[in-house]
Amino acid sequence: MRVDDTVLVLPPVGARWRRATIRRRTRKVLRDLDLPASGVTPPILASAIAEKLGTAIELVEHALPARGPSGATFVDDSGYVVFFQSQTSVTHQAHHIIHELAHVLTGTFASVAQPTPPDVDCEEDMELIASIIACLVGLRAERVRSPEPTPTLTRLAVALDDYAERW
Ligand SMILES: [Zn+2]
Repeated sequence: MRVDDTVLVLPPVGARWRRATIRRRTRKVLRDLDLPASGVTPPILASAIAEKLGTAIELVEHALPARGPSGATFVDDSGYVVFFQSQTSVTHQAHHIIHELAHVLTGTFASVAQPTPPDVDCEEDMELIASIIACLVGLRAERVRSPEPTPTLTRLAVALDDYAERW
């Protein structure tokens, strides 16, 4: 898997009709995903995106500091790992997961080796994409079961705690 396997290309900052373009491209991406007509939950959406990208996406609950990020996405050889805040409601978790999946779709996720500070413009774009997706698929929030911990997940969780501390 390469970082340029981006399915949703963001228009340049300052482009005309930028939000409308993002909306149109998000709609197109959703049409290309193999999604059921109703009852789409965060795991269903994640696996449809994973299939499209030919990779794996794991959704992992993690206790994040209240003042830090609500989620984070890492990529490694085996695929994407999306961490989301455990200390909140299922509805908020669903929103955080979709926001992170927007990072996956646009290829704008953190690197474990070089975590970068949040980019405000990018975060706004992700919020826009997340709300479009949630609305178009009629997203249903439900408790997400995390996978069993593996050495990789534990290592990424430690990296995430470091990242959240520098937030
Ligand atoms: Zn974000």
